[in-house]
Amino acid sequence: MQASGLSSATVSNVVADLVNDGVVAEAGSVDSDGGRPRTLLRVSPDFGRVVGVDIGETHIQVGLFDCTLNTIATATHPIAATELVPELVAGLVLDGIDEVLTKEHLDPAAVLGIGVGVPGAVQAGLVYAPTLRWSGVPFEKMLTPRVSAPLYLDNCARTLGQAEMWRGSGRGAQRAIIALLGVGVGAAVATGGDRYQGATSTTSEWGHTVIQVGGVACRCGSQGCLEAYIGAEAILDRYRALPGAEPFVASDTEARLAEVVERAAEPGPAADALKETAEYLGIGISNLVNLLSPDRVILSGWAGEVMGPAILPMVRDAVRRHALAYMYESTVVQLGELGQEAVALGAATLPVVELLASGGRRTP
Ligand SMILES: [Zn+2]
Repeated sequence: MQASGLSSATVSNVVADLVNDGVVAEAGSVDSDGGRPRTLLRVSPDFGRVVGVDIGETHIQVGLFDCTLNTIATATHPIAATELVPELVAGLVLDGIDEVLTKEHLDPAAVLGIGVGVPGAVQAGLVYAPTLRWSGVPFEKMLTPRVSAPLYLDNCARTLGQAEMWRGSGRGAQRAIIALLGVGVGAAVATGGDRYQGATSTTSEWGHTVIQVGGVACRCGSQGCLEAYIGAEAILDRYRALPGAEPFVASDTEARLAEVVERAAEPGPAADALKETAEYLGIGISNLVNLLSPDRVILSGWAGEVMGPAILPMVRDAVRRHALAYMYESTVVQLGELGQEAVALGAATLPVVELLASGGRRTP
């Protein structure tokens, strides 16, 4: 109320309207200093449903969420990197949406909005995603005719950052860096909500910052990029090149990285490959720490989930050695909490942001 600058009577009227409309619900009360107990409010989970879509490197995942972003249903379709033509991706996204709605016997009209996290930039409705070899793909237009809810597209690292700030490891942080680790490597810089604005996040091409002069060739065309050292494929390549490395049992990247992590429990080439990865990752993070002085760095993304627990102590040690001491002291490096659904959850924040901004009015 203080932040709004409105009188208590005005706030009471607005809140009563929102409660009547079902946008917010009372969530108990707390004692205030001497006065009447203060009523706590929260967004009403059952005001409607939102959908979040993760167009990932190894799968397309669609999640159905309530308005407080609790997961209700998910659908996952594995994809191979070679098949990512836009029409096929659009088809899988639409199938996934149908699947989660059918699972819950939900009328498509009950969906307030659909957020789509894409591994690239969205400019004027066109998607530029180098990892998918998409340049100016009108992806929104490809989905629009077959969905009734409003669509929101945004970069997946940005929406993931938003999700970690709202529901994950970023809660309470003033400035968090969320590292999205996978085949590609990105980072979102998220700032905590101040009195007037909620938590927001922006992305950076952290994976293509150079950490080695004359280093390994990167798929962006440069050499020595961070991604060429800590991207999932790069880690597998480095393991394979070490003496004593054994062939992989699994055929996909995600399962192979899990094999490296499992083998790294014993000293040997897998442990060496992860140790090197932790050192490069620590250097990449310490560069961010020295540049941006975050209070929190969160390791997220599927590769972060697979190898995070095994490398976290080594990453922290590397950051401690490479960042300026007084910068490192005010930074905590930790693992993301949202798991495999993090990106779909992040995408679902897009329609919820819109809902809150509009005071609960449904977009026609
Ligand atoms: Zn690069």
